[in-house]
Amino acid sequence: DWNSDALRRIDPEKQQLEQRLNAAEQKAKSIEDVRKSLPVYQYRDQLLAAIEEHPVIVLIGETGSGKTTQISQFCLEAGLNRGKKIMVTQPRRVAAMSVAARVAEERGEQLGRTVGYRVRFDEKISTSASNPTMLEYVTDGLALQLILSSPSLDEYGILLVDEAHERAINSDILLAIAKDLVKHRPDFKVIVSSATVNAQAFSSYMHDCPIFSVPGRSFKIESFFSSQPEANYLSAAASVIFQIHISQELPGDILVFLTGEEEIVSLAETITETAKKLGGKVPEMIVRPLYASLPASEQQKVFEPTPTKARKVILATNIAETSLTIDGCKYVVDSGYSKENFYEPKTGMESLVVTPISRASAQQRAGRAGRVGPGKCFRLYTRWSFYNELEAEPVPEIQRANVTATVLKLSSLGIRDLLHFDWFSPPSTSAIIKALEDLYSLGALNELGVLTTIGRKMADIPVSPELARVILAADEFGCVEEVLTIVAMLQESGSLWLRPRDKKMYASAAHRRFVSTEGGDFLTLLNVFNAWTESEFDLNWCAENYLQPKVLNRVRDVRDQLVKLCDRVEVPLSSNPSDHVKIRKSFCRGFFAKAARLSRGGDSYRTIHGSNSVFLHPSSVLTEVRPKICVYYELVLTSKEYMRNCFPVDDPQWLLEAAPHAYKKEDLEKLGWDKKMGKTKG
Ligand code: ADP
Ligand code: MG
Repeated sequence: DWNSDALRRIDPEKQQLEQRLNAAEQKAKSIEDVRKSLPVYQYRDQLLAAIEEHPVIVLIGETGSGKTTQISQFCLEAGLNRGKKIMVTQPRRVAAMSVAARVAEERGEQLGRTVGYRVRFDEKISTSASNPTMLEYVTDGLALQLILSSPSLDEYGILLVDEAHERAINSDILLAIAKDLVKHRPDFKVIVSSATVNAQAFSSYMHDCPIFSVPGRSFKIESFFSSQPEANYLSAAASVIFQIHISQELPGDILVFLTGEEEIVSLAETITETAKKLGGKVPEMIVRPLYASLPASEQQKVFEPTPTKARKVILATNIAETSLTIDGCKYVVDSGYSKENFYEPKTGMESLVVTPISRASAQQRAGRAGRVGPGKCFRLYTRWSFYNELEAEPVPEIQRANVTATVLKLSSLGIRDLLHFDWFSPPSTSAIIKALEDLYSLGALNELGVLTTIGRKMADIPVSPELARVILAADEFGCVEEVLTIVAMLQESGSLWLRPRDKKMYASAAHRRFVSTEGGDFLTLLNVFNAWTESEFDLNWCAENYLQPKVLNRVRDVRDQLVKLCDRVEVPLSSNPSDHVKIRKSFCRGFFAKAARLSRGGDSYRTIHGSNSVFLHPSSVLTEVRPKICVYYELVLTSKEYMRNCFPVDDPQWLLEAAPHAYKKEDLEKLGWDKKMGKTKG
């Protein structure tokens, strides 16, 4: 009798289990179907044969054809990697993480087993000897970092440089290194993958390798332009979104291209509120942001299927241009802008600038509307502007950005003659020379341009050369713990401070408690982190102080990673919490070139190098005290050039000590500080 009883008990469980197995099987089947329906699937065998035959191939295929998620799996399944690992590089960390998750899912595995990712300050891979990760999705920056410690990439059999058309600095450099590597390693395979037809340049550069082109499949897309230039593309976007939402049938999701987190968050708020007001008069609207610093779990949400009675609106940066494909989008709204890094070697000024995109990018963006059926693209700029104002192609990053970090990495690989290096597109000579000068001032190179011990260590720390130098200086000054906290805070501080519209006063009062006018924004950030640590990372504490707990958690992760890195480059953890001067002097060692002095009028600053007009960012704790000299972490250009995150320099002597080659005593004396300098000299 007990037997039947047990059976009765087991039966429902068994049924449930069977149901669950069925669901899993069904999901696997549908994933299998999706995989088979991708354009690259039909060319699997030809592709594998081409990879087998040639050391390098260029692979062209429209966005969404399966280059990123499938090719690496084909290689793995066919054993082309011959027991070695496969590395797929991505220009963006969001893409590396999200694509790795997708590929693991396709294989019915957990992320971090056979398939994993590695990005700066975060990784999910298995290093177990019996079951290591074989397929790694890696940011191109991290790939370069790996090459520094293992120049011939012995553990890897295949390198796929993805999104090569984007011409990110690091992927350009990877091509240069890969091109050389295949000459020395006959077992090494390189695949250069690009979304645009402009493949000839890649092929010529990569030893005239063959081009393999996968025919795409895209539906017709109708494009509409604004009849007049838009004064404000955010409000224009909001109105277009609702026009579509109200007038166009379901299903049909909307993909909106904007330039960055702030814009995305603000537009998300606006349209969510409007949708709420419209209530039941319109279908449900699901708003999903997508930008680089979004936590992984939030990113994954953009891929959730849209319920039949709702419309998904994705607000994305240009990450959705080619890196990530979200199925189901029928409408694209294109602001016509993206945020780009610009660098002026003459002055050393670098800023993130909202810039018009190129025609090639505009076409890519429009193409995202034609994946499931005919689509529509609404461009928030005029037809005239499209044909007359937009550049045909984007300028490669290496020709507009700061190359100091790149030059440091190449020097660390033993490449000395940078002017004659085999660049895919060379940076300007002035940019290279400026980078060499800066590295010399930082102490990374000696007079002969040879890497110093300090330079070698700097190259091994995956932060900017300036910050790396600061960490090494902190070792001398005995305040590594404090400096690591500030470095981690500086990387993440963007959305730390919460200022809810209806509680601005309370928020400011709470924030004021952390302010150090003596130590500036840098020490203020340190105070926040230390107080949070003292609260034992308490969520209520964050709420009471109007601070974003997600940001602080990320800072803690980054800081933990930095601590590990310090161990690797043999920088012991030292601490000196009470000596703010030492902390600021450490930062001067890296940031001496980013110093500005208060103008005579007293409302603006001028950079000491280059004498450019700059302003304290309104968020800076220094706006009320206005120190005579301050050092800034970065410039942001909106209506003016703003210095964001600054600290006061009490004495110009600090700059002279930090970089005797970069400053002449006379120059600093000219600032009208001679008396004080005399005083501190003795
Ligand atoms: P390509 O690299 O050629 O642009 P991908 O390999 O990125 O193409 O995309 C192939 C398919 O995989 C697309 O249909 C895309 O929607 C799907 N896909 C990619 N990443 C994810 C994800 N995280 N979740 C769901 N589907 C995804
Ligand atoms: Mg791709």
